[in-house]
Amino acid sequence: MPDYKPEECIYDKSYTCPVCGNPFKAKQIRKGRAKFVSNDDDLKPNYTPVHPDYYDVILCNNCGYAAISSKFDSITMSQQDSVSEKITPSYVKRDYPDVYDANTAIDRYKIALENCEAKKSKWGEKSYIHLKLAWFYRDKGDRENELEHLKIAYDGFNEAFTTEKLPICGLDENTLLYIIAAIGIKIGYEEESIRILSRLIVKKNLSSRFKEKITLLKDKLKEQ
Ligand SMILES: [Zn+2]
Repeated sequence: MPDYKPEECIYDKSYTCPVCGNPFKAKQIRKGRAKFVSNDDDLKPNYTPVHPDYYDVILCNNCGYAAISSKFDSITMSQQDSVSEKITPSYVKRDYPDVYDANTAIDRYKIALENCEAKKSKWGEKSYIHLKLAWFYRDKGDRENELEHLKIAYDGFNEAFTTEKLPICGLDENTLLYIIAAIGIKIGYEEESIRILSRLIVKKNLSSRFKEKITLLKDKLKEQ
């Protein structure tokens, strides 16, 4: 695979805002341009030279409606009214660089989170955004904010796991359990994490790669 410059990896994709009807363009990653480097324990993927997660919130700069791409079009009429009432009047238009860094991503995801509050979104969607925010703060080396968002994601995913239909934002039951366990370890809930991982590893139909990940995480816990 050739080495691309960051600006060679992005393009403008067209959207129409479901809240205000404004046609606009959002930066997206060209297929095959971001090179996967590694996964952290909690499945945070690391890429070079651009990070696809940074671009996953779609934001209408006209009215301030924002959501992760998989949820952008799924908004009810009453949620649209809530966004117009609670987000638009105080929304300050953004001017981002073409290539996003962690700070740009954090700003965009926080707007998506405000929209979640306005839309009264379920915990699954909110926790997914908090998890991503934690990952972006990790990219910045900001441990305090990373932990704060991991804690909210941990509680929220647990709540979502028992009250919402799976998958949540593309995370199936096993992946979600694994992420909950991995976050738990980072925020000091080791015993609960061991319980989850022990429950997970005996499940049928796990890929050998996923089993290996679970074993690795369990081993790490034992070493602590
Ligand atoms: Zn709009």
